[in-house]
Formats: sequence, C-alpha cells, structure tokens
Amino acid sequence: MKLLYRGDKFNDESLPDYIFRLAYWNGFDSGSRLIDLLRIHYKELAKHYFCDERLHVAKKLSVWYECKVALEFILNKSFHESELNLEIGLLIKKKYHTHWICSECWKEYAYVRFYWHSCDYRNCHVHDKRLLQVEFIPYEPSLNPERIAMSPQRDWPFPDCEVTPIFLKKRIGNSCNYSDIENEKSISIDEEMFWWNVIVFLRDRFKIDFKVDSVYELIPIDELVGAPVTQRLQKVKDSLIREKEVFATLISVSIVAKIIQKRMFGFEDYGYLLGSRELKNWLLSEAYSVSRNFYTYLVGVGDHIFFGSENLVDRRVPPIDLRKVSDKGLCQFILESSILTPQEIRDITSEWECTSNSAIKIEGYVGRRHYYYNKYIQAADLNVFDMEPEPR
Ligand SMILES: [Zn+2]
Repeated sequence: MKLLYRGDKFNDESLPDYIFRLAYWNGFDSGSRLIDLLRIHYKELAKHYFCDERLHVAKKLSVWYECKVALEFILNKSFHESELNLEIGLLIKKKYHTHWICSECWKEYAYVRFYWHSCDYRNCHVHDKRLLQVEFIPYEPSLNPERIAMSPQRDWPFPDCEVTPIFLKKRIGNSCNYSDIENEKSISIDEEMFWWNVIVFLRDRFKIDFKVDSVYELIPIDELVGAPVTQRLQKVKDSLIREKEVFATLISVSIVAKIIQKRMFGFEDYGYLLGSRELKNWLLSEAYSVSRNFYTYLVGVGDHIFFGSENLVDRRVPPIDLRKVSDKGLCQFILESSILTPQEIRDITSEWECTSNSAIKIEGYVGRRHYYYNKYIQAADLNVFDMEPEPR
C-alpha cells in the first residue's frame, strides 16, 4: 500500500486526527476507509514480521496500534507509543457528533489540535477566540470554518481556561495528552481549595493572618503548574513559613493534618494508597521531621516497639484517624498532643493575649467538655497532654 500525500504529523495533532487528514488528502471517501485498509495492511505485515505468539497478542491490540504500525511501514517514519494514550474512544464517537476548531489556528495550519477535543477547552489560548462548532472538518481550502460553523448554543459553557494554557505552554516540546491536562486541572482545583482551607484554618483557629486570599498571591501560578504535587506542596509551604517563621512547626503540622483530614490530592488512607505513594511518603517524612510525636500519632505504634513485653495486642497504639476530626478537633489535637513545644504554644498564644478582647475565644467545646486552652498553656511546662479538662 502506498500513499501519495505524506505530510508530517504535527506535534499537537493526535494520531487518529492525522489519519483522518491523510485520508482526506489522499482522496479517501472517509477516514474509516483508510483505517480499514491500514488494519488489513497491518495483518499482512504481522504474518511476515511477527512470530505467531506476537500475532496472537496483536489480535487484542487497539485499532490505533494497528494503524500506527501499518503507517510506520508505509511512511517509513516512527510514531511515539504515547500517541496511543490520546482519548481515542472520543474520536470514534466524534464521527456521529460535531467537532470544535479555532478558525484562526485553522487559517495558519489546517489540522485538528488534539486539545480541541477536550470538552472543557472552548476558547483558543493562542488567539483568545471562542472555538467554532462544525459538523465536519473543513479540510477543503475553499471552505471557510466561519461559514460552516453551527450557531452557538444558548447554554454554552464558559470554561475556565486559566490553568490549561499555562500548562500547555510549559509542555511545548514535550509530549502531552488529555489525561495530563485533566490531571493538571484537578490538581489545580484541589490546590486552590486546599490552601484557602489551610489559610482560613490558621486564621480562624490560631489567629495567624496571612493577609492573602489565595495562595497564588504568594506564589505565581506558573511556578506551580505542571510540577508534581509534593513539589508544589513544598514550595507553598516554604513560602508560607517565610512569611511567618515563628509559626513554622504549626504551619507544617496544619498542612499535613489538613491533607489527611480533607483527603486532598487523592489521599485516602495510609494503607491503601493507589498511585500516590509519593504523597504518602512526603506526608510521613514531613510529620517525622516536625516531631516524632506527630509521626507516631499518624502511623500508630507497631507491635515491634513492645517486642518482649507481655500483652502485645493491648499495648498496640492505633493511629489517630484525622479524617474523622472537625476543624475544632484538629485545633485541639494540635494544641494538646505535645507536637508543639511549650515555647511554640506560648508563641502562638502570645499573639492572642496582645489583642485580648471578648471576640477572641481561647476556649471551646469539644463534645460536652469545655476546654480553656489558657490553662493548658500555663501548664505547658509540665505536660499539656496530661491535663484534665475542667468541668463546667
Ligand atoms: Zn487559535
């Protein structure tokens, strides 16, 4: 099989879109006709080049894998394996639905950019123009996308494109697919919510005022976008601590505790972390470097600690499940669990005393018990954790 038109694939063009473009310029009625021929070609190749076992495996491979191998033989080019990661099911469905294109991009080079398929990408980040919805891809040069565009729907969603264009710019020269974009977006949404939560927690519970409403006021968003979660956490943590160095331990503890409490960034459980081992390791090493006590609370104390003692099972200390703790409970836990040193507790509460008025309550209810944190703090040099709450 030979193809007359052999134009190169663009970096931001998916393999299926490339095949559809090849089909058009080589005069096929439809993309699926070329796909059928490529698959037949692949089966022929498999007979000659692959051993029987491989052919058996190959039968279960995707359409696009077969097309990729066949095209590599026909065009004498190679395509990266990652081409197959693009959401190809979507493209098959696309046959019956509509396409989205940026008319300006199209004028420059007439091919489909892979990110146009993402249902959240509806404004071109290069031209800042709304994408046009078309029934078919207008490869024919005389066809003007503006003319064939369908009229916009009334409930047209206005997407939030803030993160995606920054991310795409950072990935220039690298491979990138839908799941990368989706993943980046979900991390960014989590991230914004998470830091807002931490800042409010420190403000409401510990009277530490960062004077920012969003973490992106401390760190420009493009310094975070695209980086792994733990690197981003580390960067923001460092900049928060730079702002309020005296509260370094409290800030670190709050960050770790809040990730667990709110189950952020895919955190579910220490025991069953799927695909998030890096985050788990980061949380535990953070906890350990802050205080041995904190680490022990999070992981519990294993039987081996009591090796040789009589009642192994009874002596085992289970981890504290911060996922079931309210903000108030978390605040109490931080103040009373000997994670912070007595001096650190005094540093935190000295701020409270300076601005002492009725609006600031250093006390609260936990269940039916009434706690006066002042009493605990006064006794901090003894051992806050051993103090009994005062009945009221
Ligand atoms: Zn454009």
